[in-house]
Amino acid sequence: MKPSCFSNFAPQRRESGRNRWNKADDMFDETVDAVVVGSGAAGLTAALVAKSAGLDVVVLEKTDRIGGNTAMSGGAVWIPDNPHLAEAGHSDSRDAVMTYLHAMIGNRLQRDLVDAFLDAGPKAVAFLDRSFHLERVGSRDGARL
Ligand SMILES: Cc1cc2nc3c(=O)[nH]c(=O)nc-3n(C[C@H](O)[C@H](O)[C@H](O)COP(=O)(O)OP(=O)(O)OC[C@H]3O[C@@H](n4cnc5c(N)ncnc54)[C@H](O)[C@@H]3O)c2cc1C
Repeated sequence: MKPSCFSNFAPQRRESGRNRWNKADDMFDETVDAVVVGSGAAGLTAALVAKSAGLDVVVLEKTDRIGGNTAMSGGAVWIPDNPHLAEAGHSDSRDAVMTYLHAMIGNRLQRDLVDAFLDAGPKAVAFLDRSFHLERVGSRDGARL
């Protein structure tokens, strides 16, 4: 599952059909169901969700590279109570996460945001597991990513 991704300076363009790209003035004329602005983890995940719901999606990226800060990051994502924790023999709980976050950020903790994070995080991990498999040339599943 791969949404179209147009980076402002990216050379790849479909020249025919209903996707028309005017290289002369950096304009294009495209009709889609969903437009995602930004190609970091948030944008590309949103695009995958939209695509998996059957929508025609375009991702717009303002730089000449896909990936944003996400591509430069350490790539370690903290999703409490995610499906892989149990597989790895660990357990987690909402109470433990709340205790940890209270200790880390004290009264700046926004309960509604934390609740949304705890509710949606494990579902997001499960969705990405089902929908997306990163495979590089020469990679080996579980050994070399
Ligand atoms: C060096 C470094 C290491 C990090 N390591 C970790 C880590 O290990 N674990 C962790 O959880 N977090 C880490 N982070 C933080 C993490 O990378 C970010 O929180 C996360 O990548 C943000 O994702 P995002 O999709 O919201 O934004 P981004 O990945 O920044 O994506 C936003 C994209 O939107 C594009 N954009 C912005 N405005 C427009 C516009 N008007 N039109 C078109 N495109 C636009 C940007 O160019 C960019 O590509 C790290 C950050 C850095 C810099």
